[in-house]
Amino acid sequence: MTTNFQRLPRPLKRAQQQLAACRTVRVAVLGQAAVGKTAITVRFITKRFIGEYDPTLETIYRHTFSVDGECVQFEILDTAGQEEDAMLIEEKIKWAEGFIIAYSVTDRCSFDEVLRLRFLISHIHSNVKRCHSDTPPPVVIVANKKDLQYDRMVTTDEGSNIGQALKCPFFEVSARDSYEETVAVFSLLYREVASTGALSAFRRKVSSKLMDKIPRIHSTATTSLASRSFSLSSVKDFLTD
Ligand code: GDP
Ligand code: MG
Repeated sequence: MTTNFQRLPRPLKRAQQQLAACRTVRVAVLGQAAVGKTAITVRFITKRFIGEYDPTLETIYRHTFSVDGECVQFEILDTAGQEEDAMLIEEKIKWAEGFIIAYSVTDRCSFDEVLRLRFLISHIHSNVKRCHSDTPPPVVIVANKKDLQYDRMVTTDEGSNIGQALKCPFFEVSARDSYEETVAVFSLLYREVASTGALSAFRRKVSSKLMDKIPRIHSTATTSLASRSFSLSSVKDFLTD
């Protein structure tokens, strides 16, 4: 497909060309409810920490971001992390090329869930014929809420050990305190996906009705939303079709 940039006004033309040069990466953020999946995602996209989010809201955020000077269009599926039908979680896992499994250092149950989710991702992807590689898709394990030091139930060593055992990069972060930490997580995940060659034609084959139903928000919408110090419980007001 060729894009005709000739007729566009110059600033629009430049924006179009930049977007056309972007690589898209699909990321799913998994983990138990209330570990901070939305906080981590929204922090990365808006640079802000917004205290309360609608826990039932499942959204795909689109965010263009530069990683090592390369333009990357992130599509981030922020899952609701509730008990789900096995088919639904399977479709979401097939859709993504890279994964963040988040837990909270204040919640041991959420830490125990990491192992199950890692296994589920490997299992589902091993059943899908992928175009370029047989290696499991990249996963980054993220321990969130490290600022809550007095409520900590999972040590840094435990997190780092599970990262080593599962061969996944491990980060401890505080979505509340740091934007840079979330940048490090998403950037590394992108590098891992790019290096495994997982940015493949594979993803075009798995578009599904379920995934099409999940609302999408572009980062420009979330930025204006954050600057108004919003409670994201009303985020639905900002959804576009
Ligand atoms: P999700 O259900 O996994 O999407 O979790 P949320 O992002 O909705 O966060 C659940 C709760 O944890 C909210 O009250 C957030 O304000 C809080 N939270 C999220 N990240 C952090 C963090 O890094 N530090 C602290 N102290 N609270 C956090
Ligand atoms: Mg959430």
